[in-house]
Amino acid sequence: MVLDDLGSSLRGSLEKLRGQSRLSEEDVEEIVKEIQRALIQADVDISLVQELSDDIKARALEEEPPAGTTARDHILRIVYEELVELVGDSTEIPLEPQTIVLAGLQGSGKTTTAAKMAWWFSKKGLRPAVIQTDTFRPGAYDQAKQMTERAEVDFYGDPDEDDPVEIAREGLERTQDADVRIVDTSGRSGLNEELVDELEEIEAEVDPDHNLLVLDAAIGQGAKDQAKAFGDAVGIDGVAITKLDGTAKGGGALAAVDQTNSTIAFLGTGEEVQDIERFEPSGFISRLLGMGDLKQLTERVERAMEETGAEDDDWDPEDLMDGEFTLHDMRKQMNAMNKMGPLDQVMDMIPGLGGGLMDQLPDDAMDVTQDRMRNFEVVMDAMTEDELRNPRSVGKSQVERIARGSGQGEETVRELLEQHKMMARMLKQFQGMGDGDMQRMMKQ
Ligand code: GDP
Repeated sequence: MVLDDLGSSLRGSLEKLRGQSRLSEEDVEEIVKEIQRALIQADVDISLVQELSDDIKARALEEEPPAGTTARDHILRIVYEELVELVGDSTEIPLEPQTIVLAGLQGSGKTTTAAKMAWWFSKKGLRPAVIQTDTFRPGAYDQAKQMTERAEVDFYGDPDEDDPVEIAREGLERTQDADVRIVDTSGRSGLNEELVDELEEIEAEVDPDHNLLVLDAAIGQGAKDQAKAFGDAVGIDGVAITKLDGTAKGGGALAAVDQTNSTIAFLGTGEEVQDIERFEPSGFISRLLGMGDLKQLTERVERAMEETGAEDDDWDPEDLMDGEFTLHDMRKQMNAMNKMGPLDQVMDMIPGLGGGLMDQLPDDAMDVTQDRMRNFEVVMDAMTEDELRNPRSVGKSQVERIARGSGQGEETVRELLEQHKMMARMLKQFQGMGDGDMQRMMKQ
C-alpha cells in the first residue's frame, strides 16, 4: 500500500547506522534522499517534501540526541515525528451513539465505506445501522443491502422512494434501536449545485454529529481541492480515504487532506467490509517505518479473542513491554498468535520485530506450529509454578524430571526453554531500542 516503499528503503539506510552513536551530514543526506524519493513516488506535493526534508536535516544535525540513544534511534524518532506531523491528526470519532453523514463524489467509495464503518463500530461493541439515501446511482440500494448483510449490521433503505430526504427521515425513525447511524448519500460526477442542495437538505433533516467526506486515494493531490470544495460547500469534519490498496498515490491524498486543515478518520484498504482501518497517525507512520503498530496488533488480538470466545487468554501486547517475560506470558502469546492468522504479518506489527530484526532470525524461529504448541503445553503442565515464572533457573536435573513427568523427550523441554529465551531476548531488544520516548510514541 501507499508509501510501503519508504519502510523498506529506509530500513536499509538505518541498518547502516547500527552501532554508531553520532550522525554525520552524509548519513542524514542519505536518509533524507530515501524519504524524498518515497514521498515523491507517493505523490506528495513537492514543496511539502522539501519542507519536510529541511526540517529533518536541521533537527537531525542540531538536536542533541538524548543520553543513551543511538544515532539510529535519534534519526528514526525525528523522521517519525515529522511524518506524523505531515499526515496530520486523526478525526475524533468517539465510541458513543452518534449520527454520521457520508458525502462524496460518485464512485469515491461511500456505500462501501458506510458498511465498513458500521462493521467497525459493531466490532467496538456498538450497534450501528446504515441508512441508504442514494437514489441517484442505480444499484446503490442493493449494494448497501448486501454489504450490510455481510457486515451483520442493521440497514434501512427504500428502493421505491426517490426522495433522499424522505428516506433519511424514515430511516432515522426505523433505526432507533441503533446507537450509531451512518447515512450514505448520493454522489455526482462533480460537486454541482444539485449535489450541494441535496446534501444540505439531508443535513437539515438528519442533524448529524459528523459529516465525513469520502475520497478516492487515487486522486492523489487532487484530494486537496475536493476536500476544500466540499468543506466550503457543506462543511466536513473528517475524511475517509478509500482504495489505498490500489494506488501508490495515497501519500498525496494523506498529506493534501491535512493541508486543508481537515483530518482523516478512516482508511479503506480493500473491497471487503473488514478492509477498514481507523486512521491513527502514530500507528500508521510507525508501521511504515517498520516499527510495528501496537494499536493495530491489539485490535487484532481483541478480535481473535472475540471470535474464539477465549476470554481467559486475554493477552495484551503491551504487557510484554513491562516486566519479566515468563513462560505464562509465552503460552498466552503463542495461543493468541495461533488464532490471529499469518504469523509473519502479526510479527510485522510488533514493534521492534518488524523489518531487520526478523531477517536475522532463523526461518523457523517463530514457527510455533499447532503440534509444537501442544507439546510445549504438555511440558509446561509438568513444570512447577516457580519454573514457569523463572524458566532460566531450570537446570539439567529439572529438565530430566519435566521430561519424565510430561512424557515428552528432554529435547522438547530444551526446545521450549530455547524458544522462551529467544522470545525474551527479542522483547528485551525492543525494550532497549530507545528511551521512554519510543514506548511513549507507540502508545499515543
Ligand atoms: P459510491 O458511489 O461512493 O457509493 O462508491 P462505492 O462504494 O460503490 O465504491 C465504488 C467502487 O470502489 C466499488 O467497486 C467498490 O468496491 C470500490 N471500493 C470502495 N472502497 C474500496 C477500497 O478501499 N479498496 C478497493 N480496492 N476498492 C474499493
